[in-house]
Amino acid sequence: MNMMADIFWVQCPKCQGRWYCEGDMKGVSNVVCPFCLHDFPQEESLEKVK
Ligand SMILES: [Zn+2]
Repeated sequence: MNMMADIFWVQCPKCQGRWYCEGDMKGVSNVVCPFCLHDFPQEESLEKVK
């Protein structure tokens, strides 16, 4: 049983703000920056954290 979800750090290309989302966000095409509300393709700034 694996309770650990993958965590992905996302960095906003506009304001450089960073936050993380869980693995089940994978497949969501766009993410919205919680800081400046810029939305961008998630693939642009994903950084996998183990
Ligand atoms: Zn931003």
